[in-house]
Amino acid sequence: MATCEFCRIVAKQQPTALLYESADVIAFPDINPSAPIHILIVPKKHIETFLDIAPEDAALLMRMTQAAQQLIRERGLQHSSYRMIFNGGTAQHVPHLHWHLISRGR
Ligand code: AMP
Ligand code: ZN
Repeated sequence: MATCEFCRIVAKQQPTALLYESADVIAFPDINPSAPIHILIVPKKHIETFLDIAPEDAALLMRMTQAAQQLIRERGLQHSSYRMIFNGGTAQHVPHLHWHLISRGR
């Protein structure tokens, strides 16, 4: 999937500031942030949409959750407010599963 924007980031063919990386998950700042903290949490595996998540991806979803928990705790966002969202259907613009972590910060 060399043409997928987020697969290119996973393959380090497209530069970004990595905020988190594990064997199967990465996180990086949204290029067009809608708040002071706007981080994308992305599985390295190319899963296109929410509806393409399969039972075999259960462990991967847990690892995405762990990535999100670490990013939230590192920034102390549990003491203020944060939102986790994903877009689907025609609201989704990059066809590679990702969660948005959005916060005004502490
Ligand atoms: P959506 O698919 O609707 O959740 O939106 C995709 C999000 O990815 C948007 O918020 C974009 O600003 C963001 N985005 C697209 N390309 C990049 C990139 N190369 N690096 C960081 N964020 C990106
Ligand atoms: Zn991809």
